[in-house]
Amino acid sequence: MKSGRRWTSTDGRFGAAIASAVCDAVEEHIRSAHPNETGGVLVGWYDDALSVAIIAEASGPPPDSSAGRTWFRRGTKHLAPWMKSLWSKPTRQYYLGEWHYHPAPHVEPSRDDVEQMEEIAASPKYGCPEPLMLIFGKSKRAPRTVRVFVHPRGSEAVELAEIR
Ligand SMILES: [Zn+2]
Repeated sequence: MKSGRRWTSTDGRFGAAIASAVCDAVEEHIRSAHPNETGGVLVGWYDDALSVAIIAEASGPPPDSSAGRTWFRRGTKHLAPWMKSLWSKPTRQYYLGEWHYHPAPHVEPSRDDVEQMEEIAASPKYGCPEPLMLIFGKSKRAPRTVRVFVHPRGSEAVELAEIR
């Protein structure tokens, strides 16, 4: 990955990287949704050591999503065929987690956010025992504030710190 942002857990067990093109796509979705929340799914792959999730694409909000200033409910419409097409790419891509936008300068995951991630981690439908959650905040300066969490199945969320 030539340029982008990276995060790691203090014990090095989890990591995440996002390409700047994906950040740009997220910026567009945020701009068109503000002052409401918005979000989508993250897809990509894990590196060879399986410790770093490489985020290669971020979807926008599926058309059956709904949102307000302090909540976002991601829909599912059109996601399945899109994910299927990514699975058959030369570098196989699959579901890595969720991103969403809080139109506030201080980013705190809500109770709903945490519960949703716990459900995804536990769901055989997603096949993702360590889903990522990226929450972008409102910020005047680039790069935009973002908090990154891993939700390992059956245990507490782990926050990752940005590597600068
Ligand atoms: Zn939230």
